[in-house]
Amino acid sequence: MAKGPAKELQLTFEDLTGPQTLEDLSKSISQCQKCSLAANRTNVVFGAGNPLALLMLVGEGPGADEDRLGQPFVGAAGKLLDRILAACGITRGEVYIANIVKCRPPGNRVPSKEEAEACLTFLRRQFELIKPRIIVLLGSTALQHLIGAEARITRVRGQWVGPLYGARVMPTYHPAALLRDPAKKREVWEDFQRIRDAYNALKK
Ligand code: SF4
Repeated sequence: MAKGPAKELQLTFEDLTGPQTLEDLSKSISQCQKCSLAANRTNVVFGAGNPLALLMLVGEGPGADEDRLGQPFVGAAGKLLDRILAACGITRGEVYIANIVKCRPPGNRVPSKEEAEACLTFLRRQFELIKPRIIVLLGSTALQHLIGAEARITRVRGQWVGPLYGARVMPTYHPAALLRDPAKKREVWEDFQRIRDAYNALKK
């Protein structure tokens, strides 16, 4: 039987040429002008958390508080996410949190296709460097840019999809959606119970 390709031949171009650490990647995009969102941002919100996280969460983009502080999920939706994680026995420090776009869309509008595509290169490199085993997609923007434009959060939330960069993927509602519609909390709690169980199984 023919032998498979040597491991080094399976490396992607990005593996060989892209930044080799999250810190390098973060520095390389701190002045990014690749899309129109650069014009109104205060800070590039790179992402935060454990660089070796087994569990990664991906939202849509920074809001006003995140833009001001340069950190993801620090506003009201972030505080709700912290409470959901805490209820699962998970701390912020053990996971990694990022967004589809790293600069705030004016007025918190949904990022355009062009903006998302420009920025996804960086998120993809974060996936490659962190190598999470579970990726939670928070809301339809993350779902549609990472799984498929036709995917609907109301249909696929709570189901394992993917894999994406070797990780199992669970879409659920964005915490900001829960602030607007508290009736969604029960569904999100069910989704996070599945996420918690899969995460705990990985840690055994
Ligand atoms: S959103 Fe992403 S691609 Fe656009 S300017 Fe910011 S870092 Fe660069």
